[in-house]
Amino acid sequence: RVKYHGKNHYRVFTALSEGKSIRKLTIEKDIHTVIRENQLEIFYQPQVESNSGRIIGMEALVRWNHPTLGIISPSEFIPLAEATDIIFAVNEWVLEEACKQQKEWMEQGLHLKLSVNISPQQFYHQSDLTKKVKDIVNTYKIDPTKLVIEITELIAIHNMDIAMEKLLELKSLGIQIALDDFGTGYSSLSYLTRLPIDEIKIAKEFIDTLDEGTENQAILHSLVKLANDLNLRVVIEGVETEEQYKKLHLLSCHIVQGYYFSKPLPAKQVNQLLIEWTTMY
Ligand code: C2E
Ligand code: MG
Ligand code: MG
Ligand code: MG
Repeated sequence: RVKYHGKNHYRVFTALSEGKSIRKLTIEKDIHTVIRENQLEIFYQPQVESNSGRIIGMEALVRWNHPTLGIISPSEFIPLAEATDIIFAVNEWVLEEACKQQKEWMEQGLHLKLSVNISPQQFYHQSDLTKKVKDIVNTYKIDPTKLVIEITELIAIHNMDIAMEKLLELKSLGIQIALDDFGTGYSSLSYLTRLPIDEIKIAKEFIDTLDEGTENQAILHSLVKLANDLNLRVVIEGVETEEQYKKLHLLSCHIVQGYYFSKPLPAKQVNQLLIEWTTMY
């Protein structure tokens, strides 16, 4: 008797009748072997200093090369991985892999800032997170001041007391903290003074409305001024057009990231870009 298959089919059937797509079921099933099968890959997206046109940093953005589904975006699989313990392995793999790359860049004389995203589970439920970061920084002899951990605003305010404690712990390693996706709903300016952060990343949604009127520009302008006064670095995400870039430059937004400069690229291609960049801009 093929009991095993029978049971599995039954599970798939009930899951489907609960409205889950085959795609989602496949992802949930295959996520468990993603590390073992070596299917993750980090893409890097440059951050550009608008005054000099230089690439000053990279954001590490993970992708899953799935054998049948192709490249799966982190916004699709990270939330599903968060429901299982595999998220811890995924996050650790990303951090280590990105730091390995950072070491390579350092050895080439490139002192780029490296930004790594961390997930809510990792932030709140991985008790040895700081130790793990410390070990990886030590192993690869990374300059901790060049490592930026990105947390979303939502993570930061979920439990302010715990967040505060965690952030101070991480910062004691000498690393930096960025508040990601700033401006997407829950933003309160008071977080900027209360949380021990070094950088805010203004969400793409915000940039998209820039040409809808001078009000949004005025808000952005004051936000940038406030951040400057608070000694916070500002990174603008999702810059897609020359028009946006010019506007942002006028608004004194000095670090920009987006498809206009480069899409996130595999390590090999981003290394090629680093070589060609100086002649391009
Ligand atoms: P995020 O950290 O806010 O990253 C920015 C996202 O915007 C990236 O999507 C990037 O590819 C995309 N992007 C950059 N420039 C442009 C642009 O000009 N136009 C448009 N339309 N999009 C642009 P991606 O790589 O799909 O990542 C989505 C989210 O998944 C990230 O948002 C981050 O929250 C999360 N994520 C990515 N990598 C990791 C990771 O290694 N660990 C964890 N925990 N989360 C990750
Ligand atoms: Mg990010
Ligand atoms: Mg973001
Ligand atoms: Mg995001």
